[in-house]
Formats: sequence, structure tokens, C-alpha cells
Amino acid sequence: MSVLETKPGLEVLISQEQVRARVRELGAEISRDYEGKELLLLAVLKGAAVFLADLLREISGSVTYDFMATSSYGTDTKSSGVVRLLKDVDKGLAGRHVLIVEDIVDTGLTLSYLLEVLSQREPASLRVCTLLDKPTRRVQPVQIDYCGFTIPDRFVVGYGLDHDEQYRNLPFVGALSE
Ligand code: 5GP
Repeated sequence: MSVLETKPGLEVLISQEQVRARVRELGAEISRDYEGKELLLLAVLKGAAVFLADLLREISGSVTYDFMATSSYGTDTKSSGVVRLLKDVDKGLAGRHVLIVEDIVDTGLTLSYLLEVLSQREPASLRVCTLLDKPTRRVQPVQIDYCGFTIPDRFVVGYGLDHDEQYRNLPFVGALSE
């Protein structure tokens, strides 16, 4: 079966064309906002890797990237609420313009943890860009500076997002049946 076709129990929530167009818009907005500055994109593994790869190529100007990893949901579709840092950045962040790149903000626990940890390293600026936002499940309020799409309370996969490591290769964002 082609990755462009849906599978039983999987419905297309955001099409490949919609994702592509929105990523292009976000890239243009970020390029304008950071004009003349050196931007460091900090992507959260593994889910945000696909978004990062596309977003990066829509940003003009001076941009570098690095990765961080936090503890994930494992095979469950509900958050355990416990966030741990599994991989840190390679270089210091002091004086740098840092933009966290997330795949999805759900409860906000991961992002608020990252913001707390990274702000202590005195970056020149620290902002957040997420492809998806599920605000109805928020436990911890967080400020999102750039958001691709606001989505309902569904468990989504594709475009880097997984369920038990599957579906990351889907070029669209799909929702799994309950
Ligand atoms: P939070 O800490 O905001 O609850 O969750 C952030 C992380 O949970 C995301 O980076 C992602 O790994 C995972 N997550 C939250 N909602 C979903 C979802 O609907 N689908 C998938 N695949 N992962 C999710």
C-alpha cells in the first residue's frame, strides 16, 4: 500500500498539501522575524525531525540546528506526565537566538520543562515553533510563538509522529481511531 493512501483506522486530518503550504508560511514568518540574526533551531527528537527538515529549508538567512530528546510516551497513547532529558544539545546556548521546534504540544509538560531548562542557559532569545497544538489537553500553560495547526483532542500520527514507532513516514497528519 502506498503511504499516500490511508489505512483502516486512520483518517487524514491535515493533507500533505496543507502541511507543505503552512510550513512554507511559517518559514517565511520566521525568516522575517530573525532577519540579520543567527538562528539556532532546536528540534525535539524523534517526532520533530521531519518538520525540522522541511521548515529549515523554508528559512532564509543564517540558521543552524541541533537536537534534544525527552522521554516519550512509549507505546501508550496517553502521557505519563513524567519528563526526562535523554539527550542534550552539543554546544552552549548563551547569547544565542534559540527556537524550539516541536511536533506537537499536548499537555504542555514537555515544553514547559524544556523552556525551564533552556532559559537557565541565558540564550539571547527563546521561542517555540510547533507544527501541531492540542490546546484542550493542556495541563501546563505554555507560550507558543509559531503554530502550524490547532487540532482537536485526537491521537495523531504521520509527518514524523508515531504510534509505537510506526507511521512516521506518512506525508500527511492522520488521526487514529480510538
Ligand atoms: P506533552 O508533554 O505536551 O503532553 O506532549 C508532547 C509530546 O507528546 C510530543 O512531542 C509527542 O511526542 C507526544 N504526543 C502528544 N500528543 C501526541 C499525539 O497525538 N500523537 C503522537 N504521536 N504523539 C503525541
